[in-house]
Formats: sequence, structure tokens, C-alpha cells
Amino acid sequence: RGGQAEREVPFAKPGSLTRVYAVASGKGGVGKSSVTVNLAAALAADGLKVGVVDADIYGHSVPRMLGTEGRPTQVENMIMPPSAYGVQVISIGMFTPGNAPVVWRGPMLHRALQQFLADVYWGDLDVLLLDLPPGTGDIAISVAQLVPGAEILVVTTPQQAAAEVAERAGSIAVQTHQKIVGVVENMSGLPCPHCGELVDVFGSGGGQRVAEGLTRAVGAEVPVLGSIPIDVRLREGGDEGKPVVLSDPDSPAGAALRKIASAL
Ligand code: ADP
Repeated sequence: RGGQAEREVPFAKPGSLTRVYAVASGKGGVGKSSVTVNLAAALAADGLKVGVVDADIYGHSVPRMLGTEGRPTQVENMIMPPSAYGVQVISIGMFTPGNAPVVWRGPMLHRALQQFLADVYWGDLDVLLLDLPPGTGDIAISVAQLVPGAEILVVTTPQQAAAEVAERAGSIAVQTHQKIVGVVENMSGLPCPHCGELVDVFGSGGGQRVAEGLTRAVGAEVPVLGSIPIDVRLREGGDEGKPVVLSDPDSPAGAALRKIASAL
């Protein structure tokens, strides 16, 4: 929208009824995007109007995980987001040809996020989920500026190293005065396919440690919203573009994710 004044972000207006959750993690590969798309699909299946902004600009993966195949269209200067399973989705991947990498510096990331929030026609959403890039970078700061009311959902694995960085990522909420809605522990053990006993592949206790650390940091109770086991069906659902909460809602991961969605 070269040369034109920036539109206001509707979710930042006083009286906005949309709850905005920024899904954050300390490092990549802990399942942040998987958690985002499954929560979105579960909430939409419950009848809520849901949108997802793939704000993981360099590592965008939400459209694949949700099986969103459409491209955004333009209607009267607004971008119409494609949707899948009732979830409206926008991602930088929809604007880059093929699998071209995004090579941008911070200010352009801020601009992209601003446009995703303000120039996309979202309608009256009940919930907007932002899949943040891992870590404490530019985008997390931009989110705090553009949608100060966004609540942070921290995803970690049980592993000590992952928990430490997740706590750091979550604790930027102290500086930005944002609320942390809770911690989700993902990859919390692998149920043995033969005997059902839980194998702690990535150790245990990371989610609890992050929640305790953040509770101390923000001075308000930060709960563990749930733990999601390692589950082949979750990974398959992501690869096939069919979230496990829909394809196999009673699988261990599907059930855990639905429980977390209902706690939001
Ligand atoms: P992030 O967004 O944190 O980088 P992803 O959501 O992309 O992480 O997950 C990384 C990989 O791990 C993906 O291939 C995903 O399917 C897989 N994965 C995530 N959570 C689980 C789980 N609970 N069980 C099995 N595979 C998982």
C-alpha cells in the first residue's frame, strides 16, 4: 500500500472482542506451529470464528499444516485470506513464488505483520492466533506494539535446555506488559505402542519449570495448560494438512490439544 497511510489494526482498537493469542517458543522444532494450527482447528470446530497469522516469516509452515491451498485475493484494497476447516489463514508463503526464501530485515518484518493484521479482511473474529518465530526477536516486539492486548502462549518441550529458552522468550511479556495465558508442554513422552508406558524421550518437567519461572517473572499465576505426548498421528496430520484434532480427535495428542483449546 505504497504511499498510503497505515490502516489501524482492528484488534488493537478499544472494545475489540477478538482474543489474540501469540504462540511463542524459545527455539524451533518444539511444535509451536503444530500447536497453533491444532488449537485453531479445534476452536473453529467448536463454532468460533478463528484466524491464524503465520508470523513465523522465515519459517512459515502454517498453510501446509492446515492444508490451506488457496491464495489470497484482493477485494477493494483489502486482502481476503484463504481458509481451511473454517480457519482463515494468512502467511508470507502465500506471497512468495514457489519455495523462495524470505530475506528481510527487521523493519520489513514489522511492515508485513502490520499488513497481515490491518490490511487483511478478517471480519469479526472470536480468536486470532499468531504463530510467532522462535525466540525473542523483532516480531515479538512488533506484536507487542501492534496488538498490546495479545496474550502469550508459551510452547516448550520437557527438556531443560528448551525450557530455559522458552522462559526467556515468555519473559519479554514483563517488558511489554502482556499477559501470559499459559504454558503448553509438547512432546511430553512417547507412549510405548506395545505396553502404553510413557518413555520420557525429552526428559520431564520442562512445562512446569517454565510456568513457575514465568509466574515469578510476571508476578501472576502462569498455569500449565496441558501436555501433549509424542504422537505419530500429530506429525502425519501436519504433513497431510489435516490437524489431528479433526482427523483423530481421541488420539492421545488430539485429546490433549482439544483440552487445551477448551481451557483458552
Ligand atoms: P516449531 O513450530 O516449534 O518449529 P513444528 O510444529 O514445526 O515446530 O514441529 C516440528 C516437527 O515435529 C514437525 O514435523 C511436527 O509434525 C513434529 N511434532 C510436533 N509435535 C509433535 C508431537 N507431539 N508428536 C509427534 N510429532 C510432533
